[in-house]
Amino acid sequence: MVGNTGFGQHNTEAVRILQLEAELADTKKRLQAAEDRLSVLLESMPGGVLSYDADTGKLDYISPGTLQIFHCSEEEFRERYYNCFDLIISKIDRARVKQQIKDQLNYFDSVELTYRVEDILDNIMWIYHRGRLVTGEDGRSTFFVVLSDITDEKLVQNQMNRNAQKLIEKAELDGMTSLYNKVSMQAAIEECLSTSGVGSCHAMLMIDTDNFKSVNDTFGHAYGDKIIVFVADSIRKIFRGTDFVGRVGGDEFMVFMRHTSRNITEERARQLNEAIRRDLCEDGKLVKISCSIGISFFSQDGDTYQKLFSAADEALYHAKEAGKNCYRIFGK
Ligand code: GH3
Ligand code: MG
Repeated sequence: MVGNTGFGQHNTEAVRILQLEAELADTKKRLQAAEDRLSVLLESMPGGVLSYDADTGKLDYISPGTLQIFHCSEEEFRERYYNCFDLIISKIDRARVKQQIKDQLNYFDSVELTYRVEDILDNIMWIYHRGRLVTGEDGRSTFFVVLSDITDEKLVQNQMNRNAQKLIEKAELDGMTSLYNKVSMQAAIEECLSTSGVGSCHAMLMIDTDNFKSVNDTFGHAYGDKIIVFVADSIRKIFRGTDFVGRVGGDEFMVFMRHTSRNITEERARQLNEAIRRDLCEDGKLVKISCSIGISFFSQDGDTYQKLFSAADEALYHAKEAGKNCYRIFGK
């Protein structure tokens, strides 16, 4: 009986071992199938995947897609970036990216970044990066990252930004002189007035080129254009960078001097009259170039753009009436 029992026990154990071996083989097979599926997925997905130790930055897994982005083999990749994730990021963006990772981890367990990298051939590329932080049972934290090459999209976006900037500048500036145009001039002045107390002193100068029709008639329209640019440059040279200068009509300009005084304003008007005054002589024909200036002051002559404009325009009319090549102050 005892012998039988012993044999029976051995028999049962042997069956159990066989069963476990079969189970193990089955688990291995299923694991292998899952691994195969995963590598097919990783190889066929657009972009790359990698993982790295969150504390040391040491690279762990690098997918074939990542290697494709960086145009190199796995050995070359690990060697070039010293097997460290941080060194993949271009020096220009490294400090910013490190800070962004810290900031985002305060709120989430995943991060979203864009940064530049240099591939094995030193080409600069833009990368979109989505990383998830996973902490294992051993307490080790690993980042799992999906990378996409967004260089083409970035180039298109940058070009679009440049075009948009050009359009904005075109809409705000006069094409011939690059000074503000009438609309942007008014907008800039109104913004300044909206934050000005009655104690502030600003001056509006309306400047009109004298006898400009005869410049066109005598020397031609193209030459007239050159004179407009000459007047614009003369105005630009005399006033401060903080003053607004615009071309508001064919041969008409406007200057808005912020935080000025009557004396300084009159001094600038005198300088401008002097700078524009020219005798042009070509083919025995003579034309005198000069300008007339009308001036109004905030807040004495008006507290809105329209009131200041009407006052400066009236003063300009008086300057023309007085024989041109001079300035007049509203109400004087
Ligand atoms: P005033 O001394 O009274 O200012 O007379 P003016 O001859 O200067 O004539 P006014 O200011 O009334 O008119 C300006 C002229 O400037 C009218 C137009 O033929 C000319 N003009 C307007 N825009 C342009 C331009 O872009 N280029 C050129 N060459 N001429 C222009
Ligand atoms: Mg004129």
